[in-house]
Amino acid sequence: MRSSLLRIVAVPLTWIVFVGCGSKTETQKLLTSDELSEAAIEAAYQPAYLELATGIKPRAIHPWPCETKPIGHNIASYQDYGGGAYFHHGIDIMANAGSVVKAAAGGKIVNIENYGGSDAYWEIAILDDEGFIWQYHHVDHESIPQAIHDALSSGVNIPSGTIIGKVFYWSQSSFGALFHHIHLNVRGKQNDFFNPLTFLEAVPDTKAPVIREIGIIKNGAPEPDDDEKGVASDPYSLYVNIDDLMFHDKYIVPPYWINYRVDNDPVRVVWRFDNLPGGSSNAKYVTDFFIADRTCGDYDCRKFFINLGFDPQGNRTFTTTPGPHKIIVTASDFSGNITSKEYGWTVK
Ligand SMILES: [Zn+2]
Repeated sequence: MRSSLLRIVAVPLTWIVFVGCGSKTETQKLLTSDELSEAAIEAAYQPAYLELATGIKPRAIHPWPCETKPIGHNIASYQDYGGGAYFHHGIDIMANAGSVVKAAAGGKIVNIENYGGSDAYWEIAILDDEGFIWQYHHVDHESIPQAIHDALSSGVNIPSGTIIGKVFYWSQSSFGALFHHIHLNVRGKQNDFFNPLTFLEAVPDTKAPVIREIGIIKNGAPEPDDDEKGVASDPYSLYVNIDDLMFHDKYIVPPYWINYRVDNDPVRVVWRFDNLPGGSSNAKYVTDFFIADRTCGDYDCRKFFINLGFDPQGNRTFTTTPGPHKIIVTASDFSGNITSKEYGWTVK
């Protein structure tokens, strides 16, 4: 389903092509509807200033940029608005439209730019003292203080807590509420996407993730509900359907990490989202980690079916020893709330 966000993007881009940029119009091609998706906008956006990043490992802890903490999406969220699947790659901090956005980390302002065509896609980017680049997306352009524009031209550092603007009015609703938010990316030396939560002050979250279902993947999809359910033969993998909430009652997100133990084998970590498995790519591995035909992530649907055999080195295989087996899957949210569930199956 195509969202109305895409339509608000579509109008100004068309305007730019036909009316906008003077001589640029001759070389600028018309964007197709697929290219107008948020995924395409993000994927196409590789600003040159990212070369300034030198940060390798997060150390300093910073205050939050907004007063409120509900998380609309975390770094791991599966997203597909019709233009292709990708990891959300930053966090969406839900806030009232017009509320203040402050620089979490201080530093040098390296960019103020409209990167997506519509007024929804204004960015402020800050290079912090440790070499990480903080990209704040969906800042209301009109609200950016003159002092911030001046700091971009002069190159002076702004301290943490400086007001950089206000939250844009997001006209698209999701699960019954308008989706006003600041999307925050933190980028390192390889342009890799770090988990912004690892840079921000700890906020207590008391709701553990919920494991809804574990099962066998046959021929690339969760097994059908038939006579052979729970019986595996080579090759197969296992999946988990899992979700979490972070300071919100509806915006389901994936957990921070997942691990498992099969029978008495060593515990294996599927992935811990301190960063994205694809490094600087927000799309790489997304359909290896998530099972695309059962997973959804858009304004109306969120379901996360994760392949427990996922490994960036190549998917792991599960035991082919005939007989009964069991797996204990454990998942944690960022605050350390842990949940576990056991599942048994038979290999024949
Ligand atoms: Zn976002």
